[in-house]
Amino acid sequence: MPTWVLKCPNCQREFAHAKIDDTKIEDYLFPVKPAFPVLGLAIKCLHCGHEATYKRNELVCRA
Ligand SMILES: [Zn+2]
Repeated sequence: MPTWVLKCPNCQREFAHAKIDDTKIEDYLFPVKPAFPVLGLAIKCLHCGHEATYKRNELVCRA
């Protein structure tokens, strides 16, 4: 299942933020990014525990 990932600025590794619903072909071809607060969202890295504030445009789609 395709997934939105974020890259940790501390350990430089990617971690999954949200799964993309690919049951509908239009969601698969044109996935809509999950909503983010305008000021960003503080999320802890799943690998190193580093908390960083991410913006919506930092989401990257991984198949
Ligand atoms: Zn990290």
